[in-house]
Amino acid sequence: MLKDGEKGAVLQRDKKTYAIVPHVPVGVAAPEILRNIADVAEKYNCAIKITSANRIAVVGIKEEDIDSAWEQLGTDPGAAVGACVRSIKVCPGTTFCRLGKQDSLTLGQELDRRYHGHKLPAKFKIGVSGCINQCAENCIKDIAFTGKADGWTVLVGGNGGSRPVLAQMLTSGLSTEEALELTRRVVDFYQQNAKKMDRMSRLIKRIGMDQLKKAVLG
Ligand code: SF4
Repeated sequence: MLKDGEKGAVLQRDKKTYAIVPHVPVGVAAPEILRNIADVAEKYNCAIKITSANRIAVVGIKEEDIDSAWEQLGTDPGAAVGACVRSIKVCPGTTFCRLGKQDSLTLGQELDRRYHGHKLPAKFKIGVSGCINQCAENCIKDIAFTGKADGWTVLVGGNGGSRPVLAQMLTSGLSTEEALELTRRVVDFYQQNAKKMDRMSRLIKRIGMDQLKKAVLG
């Protein structure tokens, strides 16, 4: 039996088969990627599940088929388990949505390139929404970006788990470059100061929002 996350596979409820989740950054997929996923699911007699994190899981694959399925998929595994930056949830933003105020796909892609799978003290979720409707569920992300006319508003410390916590505002009016730089500072601070398995919300509860602001905003 594989360990959870080994070969990008997660054991399913039947305790025999696995789910594998191809990495599709910011949820934008070329048709051939989707065809490939469908072909793999069909070949190995699997179901396809769109996950709550907007990922596409191929579910019910046997252990002996996992290597050849990945070879056929030709993508990296998505970081679906463990203490790391998980899937980065990104709305369509100004690229597709008529309500968008900022380009969430560009910021999301860069965040994905820099942080997806990055090891941290606990799981770490990022959301990017192009406007105040916050379709990427910003309020329950460890760090999230909301597009407004004056730039990005940054929220931190959200957690949608068993003890939900709403994110708090860190700052606003940032350009995309500034948002990326602030993310670097927040992630570094979290890495250096959080206890093992402490989500950002618990770190903020322990040290206080003012202390975090002082450390990352200068
Ligand atoms: S958050 Fe705003 S820009 Fe993004 S999909 Fe929702 S309505 Fe559109």
